[in-house]
Amino acid sequence: MVSFEYTYAEAVPELSVPWQAASFPDPRPVLINEPLAAELGLDPEWLRSPEGVAMLVGTVPAGSPTWAQAYAGHQFGTFVPQLGDGRALLLGELRDTAGRRRDLHLKGSGRTPFARGGDGYAVLGPMLREYVVGESMHALGIPTTRALAVVTTGAGVHRDYLQPGAVLCRVAASHLRVGTFQYAAQLGTEKVRALTDYALRRHYPERADDLEPARALLTEVSRAQADLVAQWMLIGFIHGVMNTDNMTISGESIDFGPCAYLDGYHPATVFSSIDRQGRYAYGNQPAIAQWNLARFAETLLPLLDPDSNRAVEIATEVLTGFAADYHRAFDTGLARKLGLGEPDAELQPELLELLTRDSVDWTGFFRALAAGTAAEAFADPAPFEAWAARWAAQGPDVTAMDTVNPMYIPRNHVLQLALLAAEEGDLGELQRLLGAVTDPCTARPGLEDLARGTDASFVTYCGT
Ligand code: AMP
Ligand code: MG
Repeated sequence: MVSFEYTYAEAVPELSVPWQAASFPDPRPVLINEPLAAELGLDPEWLRSPEGVAMLVGTVPAGSPTWAQAYAGHQFGTFVPQLGDGRALLLGELRDTAGRRRDLHLKGSGRTPFARGGDGYAVLGPMLREYVVGESMHALGIPTTRALAVVTTGAGVHRDYLQPGAVLCRVAASHLRVGTFQYAAQLGTEKVRALTDYALRRHYPERADDLEPARALLTEVSRAQADLVAQWMLIGFIHGVMNTDNMTISGESIDFGPCAYLDGYHPATVFSSIDRQGRYAYGNQPAIAQWNLARFAETLLPLLDPDSNRAVEIATEVLTGFAADYHRAFDTGLARKLGLGEPDAELQPELLELLTRDSVDWTGFFRALAAGTAAEAFADPAPFEAWAARWAAQGPDVTAMDTVNPMYIPRNHVLQLALLAAEEGDLGELQRLLGAVTDPCTARPGLEDLARGTDASFVTYCGT
């Protein structure tokens, strides 16, 4: 049995409702994340036991509350005053073996008061997708929520066809979102104050006693998000639904629906079927993060200063720092990918232009560059070769490059096939892919096909 704590529900009771999971006919574990279980001090064998599996679908002992959390959010730029966990429940919080407080949260556990028109369920493919993407990000050193388990429920769920129902159990530093603050702001300044204090204590404890808590929180979240989005860009990750309800206060990546890693490099790349305007295209992500942070800042205005003009000035000052933080993180990270000791203000932007022109495979390029075979990727190799000569003159550390540039990412065409097989009950390909992306930089024989890009275009769908 796991003993949970409920500090969030206690600190800001108006932001969660106690709610119970649906009951499921035949829950069976499909994937249990053993390394993550160990981090949490949980025994994987127990998680596979009837009692463990029951917990993973939300059947908890009497007296243990589970919670649906309230939040609002801007979806594709439009404000929705109440979203919330429509098909999710917070099991509670626990301390991991390193002493960090983590949330255990279920997705697909049945309708809640926030379900609106939804059925409250989730299906196997998208939950496995969330598992793989989270583990890939984690292995690449990017802050992210992670899946502890995927359990099939034994019930079919109607989507475009009847699919196996599943529940994802995920672990997060917390589930506080920009949208949580937007929800609290509608309840009044005192609620935002309580939430700010809670968020600072939980995520940025070194700033918990700051005399200007709202400013401290805005500054820290802005820095964390600048860093996070820079890392997404460096790895070629497109979140796909950067609504304010999908942006965390902790700085972890969250809610992997139609997300994808790009193959060919182009800033306008979009995969998501619902992003028809390209609002959340690869190259727009830094600007969108800043836009979301502006929405976050708006919720904090009354706490930033009693004088509203002064409050806006403070918010603007902090958010101006986002661009500088982002560029520093991106430029430094790109220098590392190129084996350079420090950013090069000419070589780096020129490279991005060359890659864009031929939509060169982003992940493959950096490995090929270190191996001396990158020219093959360009229709006209001459401009690239001129660039590469200047790059080589800087004495790049090609051995170091192979320790930061992944060979294996969950590429769309590979992931899609692995998920289809998993739906049919064959987990072999998915396990092989997981094995590859959780040790992404070490080239191994037998995985060559997973490292190959594709020119095929892909559409991804929201993880419902
Ligand atoms: P997402 O696109 O997963 O970030 O979800 C956006 C909102 O829709 C959240 O409030 C979800 O809880 C809700 N939602 C998504 N799918 C379902 C579903 N099948 N049933 C109920 N609510 C859902
Ligand atoms: Mg979401």
